[in-house]
Amino acid sequence: MNILLHICCSNCLTYPYKLLIDEGHRITGYWFNPNIHPEEEYNARLNSFNELVGRWDIPFYTEGYRPEEYFNLFTPGSIPKAPERCSSCYSLRLDRTARMAKEKGIDAFTTTLLISPYQDFERLVRAGNEIAQQYDIHFYSRDFRPHYNNSRVLSKELGLYKQKYCGCIYSKEEREIKRKDKKCLTHCKI
Ligand code: SF4
Repeated sequence: MNILLHICCSNCLTYPYKLLIDEGHRITGYWFNPNIHPEEEYNARLNSFNELVGRWDIPFYTEGYRPEEYFNLFTPGSIPKAPERCSSCYSLRLDRTARMAKEKGIDAFTTTLLISPYQDFERLVRAGNEIAQQYDIHFYSRDFRPHYNNSRVLSKELGLYKQKYCGCIYSKEEREIKRKDKKCLTHCKI
């Protein structure tokens, strides 16, 4: 099958790409992640993506950095928490991927987000299927999660940049809070 693969980061690209190619699919990558914050982090992830697609000679399309596309999803002052917030984020990225696939005459679309046990798999699949219907295109829905560890090992071997939070400013803040709580607990136990 000819598939447009939305790529959330180079780490999540590694194993799914190998798997799909080995199975005979034709893969084109697509980088569209306006959720990533701040710009330095976006550039670090984009550089890692560019390094890998260059090394593996993967054809791809990219979009420029327009974080307002992500922030416009929410009303200021009432930002939903994850995983509700993530539904909008998934839909934004998958909608654009489906649109691009349609424009380029590619049969199907999917996303590397499907490998992450930290993402909401059911929400992703729901969003993908709804968008597929709207654009009359196939959503290649596959549970890559059993291969997550293989992806991590491969990423380490390749020396790819590894991010510390999902991507948006809210996930960054949530991680900071968790980190501080953990530090406090450790301190209290001493
Ligand atoms: S936590 Fe991740 S998936 Fe959820 S809104 Fe933020 S960047 Fe998007």
